[in-house]
Amino acid sequence: MAILIREANQILTMKRGIGIIRKGSVLIERGIIRRLGRFRISSKGLRVIDARNCVICPGFVDSHTHLVFAGYREKEFALRIKGMDYETIARKGGGIAYTVKHTQRATVNQLFELARKRIERMIKQGTTTVEIKSGYGISKGAELKMLKVISRLKRESSLDIVATLLIHIPAKGVSRRKYLNLILEEIIPEVGKKRLAQFCDVFCDRIAFTRDESEKILSRAREFGLKLKIHADELTYTGGARLAARLGCVSADHLLYTRRADIYAMKKAKVVPTLLPGTSFFLQLDRKPDVRTFRQENIGVAIASDYNPGSCMLYAMPKIVALACLVYQMSVEEALLGATKYGARALAMEHKVGSLEVGRQADLVVLEVNNYQMIPYTFGEDIVKFTIKNGRIIYGKDN
Ligand SMILES: [Zn+2]
Repeated sequence: MAILIREANQILTMKRGIGIIRKGSVLIERGIIRRLGRFRISSKGLRVIDARNCVICPGFVDSHTHLVFAGYREKEFALRIKGMDYETIARKGGGIAYTVKHTQRATVNQLFELARKRIERMIKQGTTTVEIKSGYGISKGAELKMLKVISRLKRESSLDIVATLLIHIPAKGVSRRKYLNLILEEIIPEVGKKRLAQFCDVFCDRIAFTRDESEKILSRAREFGLKLKIHADELTYTGGARLAARLGCVSADHLLYTRRADIYAMKKAKVVPTLLPGTSFFLQLDRKPDVRTFRQENIGVAIASDYNPGSCMLYAMPKIVALACLVYQMSVEEALLGATKYGARALAMEHKVGSLEVGRQADLVVLEVNNYQMIPYTFGEDIVKFTIKNGRIIYGKDN
C-alpha cells in the first residue's frame, strides 16, 4: 500500500546542507519516493502517517560496524574502568583475542542469531543501511564463516547490508610472514572470487598491521575488485590516512592522530573521513580528531557507530549523532549529515541512500521531535517513531 506521511514539522532532505523543508509531506509508492514537499492530496486508499510535530530524515547509514561476533567483554570493561588500558588488556589475551576465541568456536547459526537480534534493535533506532565487517575469525575458515553469516543477513534482512572483509590482527602462534602470506594468497583471493565482500579493510596500527603490511593487503584486495577502507591513526600515528589517499580508499576511519598534511591528501584523493565518536566515549580517550581542519577544508565527514564488543557497545545512530556533538564538538548539522549522506558516501552508496529526493528508494525515519536540534539534545530518549525501508514500514510505534 502507498504511504502518505503528512505534514512533518521539518523534513531533512540532506540536499544543500541539511536541506530543511517545513510542513512537508512524503508520498511513497512501490518503495519509491513519489512526492516530497508541500502538497495536499486525498488520503483515500493510502496508509497515512501523521507527522505533525515530527521530523523526517533519511534512514541512518551506519558505515562502520563489527556487529557479527560472539564473546562479550564486560569483564574487560570493568578492568578498564579501574585504569587498565586497552592495549595492556589486549596484551594479556583479553581484547580482540577474547572475541576471536569465542567467534571461532561459534557456529554459523549462533553468529547469525546474535547478529539478527542486533540488527532488529538497530532498526528501532532508525538504521536502514549498515556495513558489517568480518575480522574476528582470523583463520581463513573463520573469516569465511563470518562472511557467510553476513551474506545470510543480507538475504534475510530488510536492510541494505554492505559486507567488508576486515584484516584485523595478526594470528597468534603463526609467524607474521606466514599469516600475511595466507591473507594475500588465500583469504583475499577466495573472498574476491566468490564476491563474499564488497570492501576490504585493514587495521593499520601498532597492535595490528604496519603501514607496509597494510599497503600489501589493500593493494592485493584491489586486484580482486574489492573497494578499500582502512582503520587509520586510531591508537597512534601510523600514516594510515596518507596511505588511504595514495591507494584511493573509499574511506579512512578513526583518524585520531591524523596530521593536517594527511587530511589535505585525503581531500585531494576524495577519501571520506569517518569518525567514530562512540568509541572515543566508550574508551574515554582524550585524543580527538581534527574536526576543525575537516570543517575549514569543507570536507564531508561520515560518522558511524563502530558497534563492537570491545570499544563501543552503542549502535543507536541518534545517540552517535549526540556523541559527535558532545565528544567531537561537531555541529548538529555536521553530525546529521555524517550519519546519513556522508555515511552513504563512505560506502560508495551516495547515489542510492542517505538523502531524500523524488525518485529515490524510500528509506526514511519519522522522529518524535519537532525540530532537528532536538535529535542530539533528547539524548536519553528513543525518538524513532517509524523506520521505513524501501517504502515498507519495518518499525513503527502506534500512530
Ligand atoms: Zn572498527
